[in-house]
Amino acid sequence: MGFRRGRWRENRILGISMKQRLDTAIMPPTSETSTAFLPYGRQQIDEDDIAAVMEALRSDWLTTGPKVGGFEAAVCEFSGAQYGVAVSSGTAALHAAMHALGIGPGDEVIVPAMTFAATANCVVYQGGTPVFADVDPDTLLIDPADVALKITPRTRAIIAVDYAGQPCDYDALRDLARVHGLALVADGCHSLGGSYRGRRVGTLADLTVFSFHPVKHITTGEGGMVVTDNRELAARMRRFRNHGIDTDHRQRETVGTWAYQMVELGYNYRLTDLQAALGTSQLAKLPGWLEKRRKLAAAYDTDLANVTAVRPLAVRSGDEHAYHLYVVRLADSGVRGRIFAGLRQQGIGANVHYLPVHLHPYYQDAFHTAPGLCPTAEAAYDCILTLPLHQGMEETDVVRVVHVLRQELGA
Ligand SMILES: *Cc1c(COP(=O)(O)O)cnc(C)c1O
Repeated sequence: MGFRRGRWRENRILGISMKQRLDTAIMPPTSETSTAFLPYGRQQIDEDDIAAVMEALRSDWLTTGPKVGGFEAAVCEFSGAQYGVAVSSGTAALHAAMHALGIGPGDEVIVPAMTFAATANCVVYQGGTPVFADVDPDTLLIDPADVALKITPRTRAIIAVDYAGQPCDYDALRDLARVHGLALVADGCHSLGGSYRGRRVGTLADLTVFSFHPVKHITTGEGGMVVTDNRELAARMRRFRNHGIDTDHRQRETVGTWAYQMVELGYNYRLTDLQAALGTSQLAKLPGWLEKRRKLAAAYDTDLANVTAVRPLAVRSGDEHAYHLYVVRLADSGVRGRIFAGLRQQGIGANVHYLPVHLHPYYQDAFHTAPGLCPTAEAAYDCILTLPLHQGMEETDVVRVVHVLRQELGA
């Protein structure tokens, strides 16, 4: 038993380094593959995107200029929120959100175990303690019932992650937040363009965080944004991204003053105008890209319907899934490693999202988390596989992925 436990842990450590090596935006084709390498996600850059960046490059403002506000307004318009604060990454956006809510030492923030580490790290940046909640076994979305069990007098906020692009059960989470006086943050890094019961991602929580990393729906190279209807929180995040200074460079230029005051400790988390120009150009194409992603996901659903060894994650009907990822579960967790390697060998960039955050060595060491804390997420981790999905794919790519997958499974 002790031996099995040891191996189990070792597998996870291997899983980490494997993931870190493979979780890059673009994987170069390997020389031995005959067909082009198909990454699990990748950016699409068109000529109009390049022209938009060129225009910004030729303008007076490379950073803190008008393109930033323009991009913020465009994301607000798209997501239905009132205020947008653009920052240098999704991680910076999460950090700004935690800071705006006043999270500090002694505070607990509930986060799902099944997410990218940044969702929990942002709590730690502020000196707070992330508390891991388990996920629903069918959707891998944070389980409101487990959230309820994890609430203590120290809990200050919940961060919900719209895993793979499907919005969480926000009505249940909102109720919990209201009853216990907690802030609700949506990590919408997977779900830009999704909706829940007719309400858009961006309007479902007090603060919603987006990432514009190249694997996400739209990209600015690196970049992120927090959207909110709360003016006060937006103002605090604007200050936070600029060293905690009460005005920005352009505001001072307009008024014709040199004077500024740093009123709290902040960071340089600014997004440049070059990035904002790219983001605005990309956003204009997002509706079509979402449609494409949904069509590809539907093709996977159809093609996998009679492959019993593989089951796609459950999708609630009625809501709009944004399909950042297409995740399946293998019926037999014992073959995941082999299937993963087989797909890679044939040029298909399968991936695994994610090692549950509490199993990372850092969290086990610093927060004394251990296997067994979130059993559903841990069990899911052993059998999930992310199949390629991005707007540059065609349905023939889906056919190829499913063909190779069946081959590898012997199904
Ligand atoms: C991508 C991502 C982040 C971090 O975004 P970056 O822009 O890479 O910093 C945070 N949370 C989730 C769920 C993500 O997928």
